[in-house]
Amino acid sequence: SNIVAIVGRPNVGKSTLFNRLVGGRKAIVNEESGVTRDRNYGKSEWNGKEFSVIDTGGYVSNSSDIFEEEINKQVLLAMDEADVILFVCDVELGITDLDHSFARMLRKVNKPIYLVANKVDNGERLYDVHEFYKLGVGEEIFPIASINGSGTGELLDKLVSHFTTDPLEDMEELPKIAIVGRPNVGKSSTINALIGEERNIVTDIAGTTRDTITTRYNRFGHDFLLVDTAGLRKKAKVNEDVEFYSVMRSVRAIEDSDVCMLLIDATRGMESQDLNIFHLIERNQKGVVVLVNKWDLIEKDNKTTINFEKELRAKMAPFNDVEIIFTSALTKQRLLKALESAIQTYENRKQKLKTSELNRIMLEEIENFPPPSLKGKYIRIKYVTQLPSKTPTFAFYCNLPQYVKEPYKRFLENKIREHWKFTGVPIQIFMRKK
Ligand code: GDP
Repeated sequence: SNIVAIVGRPNVGKSTLFNRLVGGRKAIVNEESGVTRDRNYGKSEWNGKEFSVIDTGGYVSNSSDIFEEEINKQVLLAMDEADVILFVCDVELGITDLDHSFARMLRKVNKPIYLVANKVDNGERLYDVHEFYKLGVGEEIFPIASINGSGTGELLDKLVSHFTTDPLEDMEELPKIAIVGRPNVGKSSTINALIGEERNIVTDIAGTTRDTITTRYNRFGHDFLLVDTAGLRKKAKVNEDVEFYSVMRSVRAIEDSDVCMLLIDATRGMESQDLNIFHLIERNQKGVVVLVNKWDLIEKDNKTTINFEKELRAKMAPFNDVEIIFTSALTKQRLLKALESAIQTYENRKQKLKTSELNRIMLEEIENFPPPSLKGKYIRIKYVTQLPSKTPTFAFYCNLPQYVKEPYKRFLENKIREHWKFTGVPIQIFMRKK
């Protein structure tokens, strides 16, 4: 988004600063309802980064007796819309009661705020700037003279440090979700039901060399990227091995995603081909949520779900700390829940545990249940750390790493899952020599 809001009492020079920031560009004046101008929008660019500037000035009447309510409105507007707030004061006049009122409200705002000390037209005035620290707001003070532009360069450098260069970089922060599964499980139907008619495409990024396409969506208030395979909806030619191409497409989609929604057909259950795709996701260290689609076709009693789930988990074991959601693309049942689970899985996969907490908890678990000694040798685990990796990876430092066998590693993994939320996320455990 990259938005800066300018707030402050009347006559401190907000508009001058606004014009300075948006430079030669024409300010877009927003005349909502045509009655009051409540804010000015302008676009600007600095060091190759684009951003928008809002002058919230219109909320505050241009007289000296303005009301708390007006200040409040201005601050709320800035708070809602901006990523960074500039609080403008005037060194010529010094701190006024109104500045204090603004400061009081701004202190409650949890966004980067910079105090701009305007009208520093000469070197002498620089000495008055430090007084503004008394307001107790703003991470830093920037002395400027918006009338001639001095100081605005430093201010802009600081501002754009909060912004991303381009929308693509922004998108790296969003969960990349792929919908995978065998032919006819309902992938296209699920995508269509999820995206619906209101499909709101922001950007299409062509897959670099492969044939996946990533599209950004906003649905149910969530931003996410959908990894789709080109030609996914194309009908297979006669004699084409439908299953083969479908798996090939799934492989690409899995590789390019963070989290997969694996669809299985409720009327068929988890078959070996479904399990193959599941293991593919696991081997690629991607997050996974299992959607049991066409749930509308199943006749149910009070045990159906539980039994179905039990059976699935047995097949997925040992990696079965995974969300299972019973959906229907037809009736749209639980599609929102499926999307939210995928996003949650993305968060689970991204989390970095604090080393201190990790050691405090895991070393105690290890002490209570140490690795079995082998050939009369004691195995000691001294320290554990999460490695900087895209998927949760833990290194346990140990005197005899090669002596720690699979079952014990699984014990460690289960303990990690018990204490932290890694549902839907494969975990890697390494033993290392200290
Ligand atoms: P894809 O090959 O995985 O993309 O599967 P499609 O989305 O083309 O769906 C295959 C068939 O299953 C179509 O006839 C769909 O209408 C049907 N279908 C998909 N989802 C559901 C569902 O939730 N319930 C029911 N009853 N039918 C579904």
